[in-house]
Amino acid sequence: MHELSLAQNLLDIVSAQCLKNGFKEIESINIRIGRASGIMPDALSFAFNAIKTDSAVANKAFLYIEEIPVTGNCKDCNNEFIVEEEYILCCPSCNGSSFVITAGRELDIVDMEVS
Ligand SMILES: [Zn+2]
Repeated sequence: MHELSLAQNLLDIVSAQCLKNGFKEIESINIRIGRASGIMPDALSFAFNAIKTDSAVANKAFLYIEEIPVTGNCKDCNNEFIVEEEYILCCPSCNGSSFVITAGRELDIVDMEVS
């Protein structure tokens, strides 16, 4: 399961960051997941909650997930577009197929609250 290893990575990163800065406990973590990243927020959240109980610093941490829609830029008509779907096959305004995805593939840790 892809999300389980992601959750483990996330937990390792935030735990190391927390201890490095001299804090003992993580209260919450804010992350952003792009719709085109292939990550399912529910599955990630579930996996995170399952493994956090083994962590000394993050066992009470709450994971907040913000979903980022897919944003693209069409080379044919120069249109900047945002879609709610996970995949884009063509530009929504001209149906052209030369476009670049400019947002929606990310998995970013925005910030976290520690004590
Ligand atoms: Zn277009």
